[in-house]
Amino acid sequence: MKVTVFGTGYVGLVQGAVLADVGHDVVCVDIDAAKVAALQAGQIPIHEPGLQALVTSNLAAGRLAFTTDAAQGVAHGDLLFLAVGTPPDEDGSADLQHVLAVARTIATHMQAPRTLVNKSTVPVGTADRVADAVRAVLAERGADIAFEVVSNPEFLKEGAAVADCMRPDRIVVGTSSAAAERQLRELYAPFNRNHDRMVVMDVKSAELTKYAANAMLATKISFINEMAGLAERLGADIEAVRRGIGSDPRIGYHFIYPGAGYGGSCFPKDVKALIHTAQSVGFEPQVLQAVERRNDAQRRVLPERIVAHYGGSLAGRTIAVWGLAFKPDTDDMREAPSRDLLHGLWAAGAQVRAHDPVAMEEARRVFGARPDLLLCDTPLQALQGADALASSPNGRPSACPTSRRWRACSRTASCSTAATCTTRRCWRGTAWPTTRSAGRRCGTAPDATNSIAA
Ligand code: NAD
Repeated sequence: MKVTVFGTGYVGLVQGAVLADVGHDVVCVDIDAAKVAALQAGQIPIHEPGLQALVTSNLAAGRLAFTTDAAQGVAHGDLLFLAVGTPPDEDGSADLQHVLAVARTIATHMQAPRTLVNKSTVPVGTADRVADAVRAVLAERGADIAFEVVSNPEFLKEGAAVADCMRPDRIVVGTSSAAAERQLRELYAPFNRNHDRMVVMDVKSAELTKYAANAMLATKISFINEMAGLAERLGADIEAVRRGIGSDPRIGYHFIYPGAGYGGSCFPKDVKALIHTAQSVGFEPQVLQAVERRNDAQRRVLPERIVAHYGGSLAGRTIAVWGLAFKPDTDDMREAPSRDLLHGLWAAGAQVRAHDPVAMEEARRVFGARPDLLLCDTPLQALQGADALASSPNGRPSACPTSRRWRACSRTASCSTAATCTTRRCWRGTAWPTTRSAGRRCGTAPDATNSIAA
C-alpha cells in the first residue's frame, strides 16, 4: 500500500521503516530539513537497535523515501500517518499544535479521498479536532473531498522499537468506518499472519487505551518505588519482596523494579495529560496524582542520599554516574531521571564524571560544556578518582569491573551509592564498603537490573 508518515521521530521513523520492510511503499515527511537530508543520505539521527540496517536496506530497495515536501507526501499516501510530537503544554495538557498543523497541511494539499491515521499520543476527542481542522481548510478551499480520521496509538518501547513494531503484541485501531478498518487490516496483514493482533474499537476508546496503558505502567513503577521506600525503613529487602510478589501471575515480574523514578518522553507527559483530561471533565484522578507525586519524590532520592551520606555537602567530592539516558539502549534523555540526579549533585557542589553507553552525544547537547561535568568514554574512566558511584541500569552493558579494577580506580573507595545496578557478581567483593540501592539494606549488593521507565 502507499503510505505517508508525517514526523520522523522515534515513532514515525521506526514505523515508516518497518512498514517499508514488509513491502509497503512509504514516504516520510518532516519539517526538519537537516534531519531529512541526513535520512536521505542513510544517516539515522537516533540510537535504536536494528534501525540503521532497516533504513539502509529499504532506502536501497526504493520502498522508503524522505522529504520535506508535504504536498508530495499527501499526494503519495492513501494512508497518511500523523506521528508528530505531543509535548506537555504549560498546564500539563498535551500540546496538539503539531498534530493540528499536519491536519491543516494535509487538507491544504488533498486532491482525493484520504485516511488520516493518528499515531501520536493524543487526548480523547483529538480525532474530532483533527477532522474539524481538515473540514475547515477544505471549506476554505471550496473542496468537497471525503476523508476519515482513525486512531492507531503506538505502543513501541524505545530501545526495542524495531522489534516491537515488527512483532506488536496488539494493534489498536479506533474507527467506526468499515472502509477505514479494511484499509488498516490490509496494511497490517503482514503482522497478523500468526494470529490476529488487531483490536478494533471506537475512536475515543482507542485514544484512551494508549493513556491507560502508560498510566498503568507508571503506576506499577511508582507502586514498587513506594514499597522500596517502605522496605528500607522497615529493614526488609525489596528484591526479595519483588520476587515474592512477581511470582503471582496477577502481578507479574514486569515493571516492578524500584529505581530512580520513571522518565522518558512518554510516561511523565502522558500521566500529566491524563490528569488534565480527567480534571477537565470534573473527575479527580486520585491514583494518577499519587503516581506522579511518588515519582517526583523518587527522582530526588538518589541525589539526596548521596548528599546526606557526605554530611550535606559535596564540595570537593567527585561522583561517578553510569547511565544518563532514561533507560538502556536509547540515547533519549527527555525527562531522564539522570537530569535531576546531576542537578542535585551540582547543587551540592560535586564534580561529576559520567558515562553512558549510547547517549554521550545527547548528554553533551543537553548539559552543554560546564566545568563540573566530565563526560567519559568508558565506565572505568568515569570511576577514576570518584568518591561514589551512582548507577542506573543503562550503565549496565559495558559496566562490570572486577574488584581489583574498582580499587585501582576509586579514590577513597568509600561509598557506592546505587539506585539500581548491575549484577550481584559485579559487586561481590568490591572494596566499597557502602552500597545502597533503592529499597535494599545498606551494604546489600544491588542485584536487580532495574528498569526506570518504558
Ligand atoms: P519526536 O519528537 O521524536 O519526533 C517528532 C517529529 O515530528 C520530529 O522529527 C519533528 O521535526 C516532526 N514534526 C513536527 N511537526 C511536523 C510537521 N508539521 N510535519 C512533519 N513533521 C513534523 O516524537 P516521538 O518520540 O516520535 O513521538 C511522536 C508521538 O508518538 C508522540 O505523541 C508520542 O507521545 C508518541 N509515542 C512516542 C513513543 C516513544 O517511545 N517515543 C512511543 C509511543 C508513542
